Amino acid sequence: MLLLVSVCLTAIIAARVTATASSSTMAACREISAAVPDRVWSSHLSKNYYSEVNSYWSTALRDAKPACLVLPQSAVEVAAAVKILNKYPDVQFAVKSGGHTPNERHSSIKDGVLISTRDLSGVTYDEETQIASVKPGGEWNDVIGPLGEQGVAIVGGRLGMLSPLPAWTGPRRGNVSNVGLLGLVGVGGYLLQGGISFLSAQYGLAADVSFAVAGNLSRH
Ligand SMILES: Cc1cc2nc3c(=O)[nH]c(=O)nc-3n(C[C@H](O)[C@H](O)[C@H](O)COP(=O)(O)OP(=O)(O)OC[C@H]3O[C@@H](n4cnc5c(N)ncnc54)[C@H](O)[C@@H]3O)c2cc1C
Repeated sequence: MLLLVSVCLTAIIAARVTATASSSTMAACREISAAVPDRVWSSHLSKNYYSEVNSYWSTALRDAKPACLVLPQSAVEVAAAVKILNKYPDVQFAVKSGGHTPNERHSSIKDGVLISTRDLSGVTYDEETQIASVKPGGEWNDVIGPLGEQGVAIVGGRLGMLSPLPAWTGPRRGNVSNVGLLGLVGVGGYLLQGGISFLSAQYGLAADVSFAVAGNLSRH
């Protein structure tokens, strides 16, 4: 009898796991994982998956667990993932930068593919032209901090922090340690939606002073 109960429980648990993500989503995850080795996670228990899925400003969005998480480290890896997704038009996916949007399914996706640009973050500055080249991912801290060290200000997000929080506040995000669960305004979403900075009264929106946005991820 005990054996029968445990067999039934196993069957129910297995059904719950397999019923969530579609077979084409799982196939897309496998294919992306083969094309972008060591940059795809499906286990809820992995550090990268846990940290990324819990790094949304809105706590409600943390409930949307993707079938797999992709953390590309280059434009080539992004292209490889998007190319595969194009083969699976029924597979839902979302792109995440800082995770500051409160809207469901914008940068979060339940049972779909989540591409986070977390590892595509950072900035370089050319003193001569006074142009900062900002990578599309991560949070404004990844940009404001390094530029601040060079005495340069940028029309970036208003919610940021120049010094990391104590270790207990959460897992690592971007290039700043331990600000994870708090979540700071991201580079990608902020630039695409306009971007109101403390400097906007003088210099306009971030989008007004950006002349190229590289890494805009869309299916087509
Ligand atoms: C507490 C708080 C403070 C805020 N302060 C400011 C502020 O000072 N100034 C201001 O202008 N706004 C502010 N906002 C609004 C915020 O800028 C927007 O919500 C913005 O979209 C967040 O960007 P993100 O990268 O963190 O968002 P995410 O949630 O990661 O992304 C937002 C949207 O952009 C898309 N996206 C991100 N990166 C890419 C990419 N590379 N290619 C294609 N799509 C992409 C996502 O798919 C999603 O649809 C604030 C919001 C909150 C909650």
